[in-house]
Amino acid sequence: MEARRTSNRAQNIILFSVAILFTLVIFFIDLNVPQSIAFGAVYSMIILYSWLLPGKNTMIYAGIVCTVLVITSLVKSNSPENHNSLEGVNAIISIIVIWICVTLVAAAKRGYEGLEKVLEKLEDKVFERTKDLELKNKELEQFTYIASHDLQEPLRTVTSFAELLATNYSQHLDENGKKGIQYMLKATERMKNLIKGLLDYSRIGSDTAMKNVDCNMMLTEIMEDLATAINANQADITIGNLPKDIKAHDLELRQLFQNLITNALKFKKDGVQPKIHISSSEKNNYRLFSVKDNGIGIAKEHRKKIFKIFQRLHTASKFSGTGIGLAHCQKIVELHRGKIWVESEVGIGSTFYFSIPA
Ligand code: ADP
Repeated sequence: MEARRTSNRAQNIILFSVAILFTLVIFFIDLNVPQSIAFGAVYSMIILYSWLLPGKNTMIYAGIVCTVLVITSLVKSNSPENHNSLEGVNAIISIIVIWICVTLVAAAKRGYEGLEKVLEKLEDKVFERTKDLELKNKELEQFTYIASHDLQEPLRTVTSFAELLATNYSQHLDENGKKGIQYMLKATERMKNLIKGLLDYSRIGSDTAMKNVDCNMMLTEIMEDLATAINANQADITIGNLPKDIKAHDLELRQLFQNLITNALKFKKDGVQPKIHISSSEKNNYRLFSVKDNGIGIAKEHRKKIFKIFQRLHTASKFSGTGIGLAHCQKIVELHRGKIWVESEVGIGSTFYFSIPA
């Protein structure tokens, strides 16, 4: 703070010194130029320059000084033997020009200061709103966490009683009763997955720091983790150029890749070998990643909504899932201050892109 004040003071001293020097030069030339020329009008440059000087009324003081100098120069040269009728007129012209400039600079400076105040207020408002939003977001995440955490307990009770019914009392039930219990067990399983998804969602990025991540190594490990699904689908996965060192939340980034690759495997076309290509490039300070597949594709009208929580385009019987995977991806990308989107053609395939600051 103190250093900034000192540097401001030094800057002001330089600006004032230049103004004084400039004024003296003009005054000196004005004294030596024939008075038939309205050289005093050049003082208007000092007035324009006073825009840079601190203080609300500096241009007025500069105007007064310049007026005094114009009059001094007129008086000095106005000896009886050297009398010229134009001198008075030229001095008046110079003074008029000086004061026109004073008025213009004062008006412009006032307007500019007003604008600066408006901008400052706007910045303050944006700052406050962002803080409010962050707080609300945190509260919402906490609420999601607590709600989903507390929902687990009654769900566990329902599940264990349904299992008890299925094992110990099924002989007392008719076919409809047995089917009912199986529906109940399937529903509780689905609910368990949804709650787990919600809990994971609220936990994303809550207490992890950024690390240096080698994406090649990360992808190799993900391929090992997904080996069963990759082999079961006989998928052909190729990996292009990936960065060896980027700053990221590593667990979250791993989950992001894993979700996109799992989806690329899951939403494959019947009877077609899944082909998946993962690559990356650098663009305008951003790292752009892509996961491309040759799956079923996504219609244009659904390309935004699939990133919302619990949004699915298919029934659970056709493709399993909870509709939370891409919401996770979006939250992870936003945690890295990036963007995620999809380009796709129905029946041809989809490419999911995400960009994070390089
Ligand atoms: P889930 O996979 O559990 O359904 P997601 O949030 O991962 O949930 O995906 C939401 C929806 O987006 C999916 O139900 C599917 O319809 C669509 N989708 C996601 N990835 C792909 C993909 N690679 N190809 C086609 N559709 C996809």
